Amino acid sequence: MHEASIALSLIDVASEVLREHGAARASALTVRVGAWSSVVPEALTAAFPACAAGTPLEGARLSVVTVPGVGECPVHGRVTLDVKRGLRCPACGAPTPTLLAGDELELDEIELAEPDREDL
Ligand SMILES: [Zn+2]
Repeated sequence: MHEASIALSLIDVASEVLREHGAARASALTVRVGAWSSVVPEALTAAFPACAAGTPLEGARLSVVTVPGVGECPVHGRVTLDVKRGLRCPACGAPTPTLLAGDELELDEIELAEPDREDL
């Protein structure tokens, strides 16, 4: 499934970040998903727990932040696009073929799990 492979690649990236921080586990992660990406946030959060099993992300909370599409209208400058209307300025209907934001899929934040405080 599409979202399962996305979840796995996110887990890969997050595991790498954990290694860099010398952390064993994460308790939560936040992902930014563009409204114009082909990712369905609900499907991603549904696929995540099974994909995370056996990894440092097991049991971590996944939050998905949806990023609205932003295009550039020749008249109105940067405008927030309406997915239902397509790549057009919502104010004047001019085509905005270049997507400035809204097709991303990226790891935004990782909350590291508290380490065991054996040194106290
Ligand atoms: Zn416009």
